[in-house]
Amino acid sequence: MRIDLHTHSSVSDGTDSPAELLAAARGAGLDVVALTDHDTTAGWAEAQRTRPEGLTVVPGMELSCRWFPAQAPPISVHLLAYLFDPEHPGLAAERARLREERLGRGERIVAGLAEAGHPVVWDEIVERAGGGVVGRPHVARALVEAGVVDSVDQAFATLLHHRSPFYVAKADTDVLAGIALVRAAGGVPVFAHGLATRRGRVVGDEAIAAMAEAGLLGLEVDHPDHDPDERAHMRGLAGELGLLVTGSSDYHGSNKTTPIAACTTAPDQYEALLAAGTGAVPFPGTGGAAG
Ligand code: AMP
Ligand code: FE
Ligand code: FE
Ligand code: ZN
Repeated sequence: MRIDLHTHSSVSDGTDSPAELLAAARGAGLDVVALTDHDTTAGWAEAQRTRPEGLTVVPGMELSCRWFPAQAPPISVHLLAYLFDPEHPGLAAERARLREERLGRGERIVAGLAEAGHPVVWDEIVERAGGGVVGRPHVARALVEAGVVDSVDQAFATLLHHRSPFYVAKADTDVLAGIALVRAAGGVPVFAHGLATRRGRVVGDEAIAAMAEAGLLGLEVDHPDHDPDERAHMRGLAGELGLLVTGSSDYHGSNKTTPIAACTTAPDQYEALLAAGTGAVPFPGTGGAAG
């Protein structure tokens, strides 16, 4: 059984529609895929409708969060959430707030770029997102199309880097509150790519212990942005803290070079995750919309 528990569609900052993403998942030989768009459940209905025969879809999300160290500025962290009740009012309100926050912040990034003479227009970027949750990858594509940079990767390495003068932070959810909300909605919170240093500052072991104390249930260990030492460290922490271990691709379609199923989750860990989620059920791989 091949299981990939972290993917993004065009409902957020991936480039495949949910239906295309599921077809790609099946094509790559996956038996289980989780759809985890940023701060939204808007892709769940299409995923349920269009899933190919033989592919189980785990409804999920990646919640934009922050960890607040005692003596340093907040650190951006991503919290995967699976099988939560999409109608839980507190969690629904928080994702709506985060989407608003993304719009205000994206507009400020683009205004700064435009002011510096880069030909990017906020309204066009929002329109191209087609109702999807807007993120820096959308701005990156606009920069590529305007000929300012050669690739999305180059945009992230330069103008959109978190240390770029154009970067604007967003007021993401306190991760301890996010964990509590996901649990209150019957979901399974898993800390995404926790040691991916190339994305920015990462939290220390004491933060992960505090998250476990707050109700975290798993660590994403096998992720394309984790090197072998980082994976070993995370695996050790999961053992010490009694957390599930997941592996996933963090597929974003053509916005990233990583193919779907690049990393996968062990079946026993997936089964434990299923047992822990009480707010929603997976969309099974049989009786789907084949035909
Ligand atoms: P934002 O949520 O707007 O801060 O943008 C962060 C998103 O950009 C994350 O979902 C990442 O997966 C994505 N991202 C980060 N670095 C890159 C990159 N080099 N190429 C494409 N996407 C990236
Ligand atoms: Fe993303
Ligand atoms: Fe992430
Ligand atoms: Zn992701």
